[in-house]
Amino acid sequence: MSIDTDRFRDSLNEHRERLLGAIEHHDIGGASLTDETGELSGSTSDNHLADSASETYERELDEGLEADAQWQLREVDEALGRIEAGTYGTCAVCGKEIPAERLEAVPWTTLCIEDARKLAR
Ligand SMILES: [Zn+2]
Repeated sequence: MSIDTDRFRDSLNEHRERLLGAIEHHDIGGASLTDETGELSGSTSDNHLADSASETYERELDEGLEADAQWQLREVDEALGRIEAGTYGTCAVCGKEIPAERLEAVPWTTLCIEDARKLAR
């Protein structure tokens, strides 16, 4: 295999740390949203309906991001497992080597571009 797995292991671990941080602290954009809500509540206290509607929306958005982060964390973990197993960078469908440029863009991918396109259809 001609792929430099050490480099991708580093980038996957880095990504993993970031995802873990986001999931643990549940603060993907949360801090700034709270600040904005705090500021707004003073001037729009006569508009309770609009306030609670936007709060619900923001909470759903937060949970959506957290689910995304958890899903991606699993992908990253599996990719790290493939590096350990020596199968990293091989397409799960056709068994061909995934080009390094694609792995650089999406280090946790299991598919070559051709098969990713086929499956997306
Ligand atoms: Zn393939």
